[in-house]
Amino acid sequence: MNRRKFLLVAAVAPFVATAKAADEYRSNFVEVSGVANRGEVERECDAIIFRLMERYGTPQNWEKFPVVFTGGGRGYAGCTFYQKPRVLRVEVCQTYASARGGTLDHELTHAFFFYLLNDAFSLFFNEGVAQNSEYRQRDRLRQTVYRRASNGEFIPLERLVNRNSYDASLLIYHQGFSVVDFLIARGGSAWFYAFLERLTHGDEDVSGCLKRFYGYEKFSDFESDWWSYIDGGQNRAVVETLIK
Ligand SMILES: [Zn+2]
Repeated sequence: MNRRKFLLVAAVAPFVATAKAADEYRSNFVEVSGVANRGEVERECDAIIFRLMERYGTPQNWEKFPVVFTGGGRGYAGCTFYQKPRVLRVEVCQTYASARGGTLDHELTHAFFFYLLNDAFSLFFNEGVAQNSEYRQRDRLRQTVYRRASNGEFIPLERLVNRNSYDASLLIYHQGFSVVDFLIARGGSAWFYAFLERLTHGDEDVSGCLKRFYGYEKFSDFESDWWSYIDGGQNRAVVETLIK
């Protein structure tokens, strides 16, 4: 009887200790508000940022910024505001449970890349890489890409990559997601970052950077390879990688 009681206490105690520590947790990167479980959410924000650092690199400068959960009804799921040289705030217009693995990761990716590149950059690749961070949505996004591509809704990439503004039918999100998905399949995350860095701070356009980093002589060669990726099932594992 006594032994059984002891086991029960032993089983429950670690859970209580973890929950307490999570409540007290404070992030070095962000300051969360608008949620009841602030410690838990700040811990998740740090996990997201550490995952991004592992993949893409470590920003030289970082100023802590607010992540505000505002609730719904704003007409968008989330938004990141920045004014060089700092991120002003991130708004998440969903509950934490809905935003985890989706909008929260998406918006923190915008903030992260702003610090990593020390600047705003190509909207097409910015949305594309943020969409790719939404790990709980990735399969659904690939299905949307396939459906829209099959329906003939996609437009030539050259009309999107240099547009630097949103389009009414949100193609920038879906074609952007798919192009970044494909580029990461070809060369990995760190190589994709090197491409982005050159595109943002170098003197070459998208075609020049695709040639330098991915070996495409012409933009149309890249575009047809990307279409093959969609037609072939968007399977990263079977993409021909640059490293043999
Ligand atoms: Zn976005």
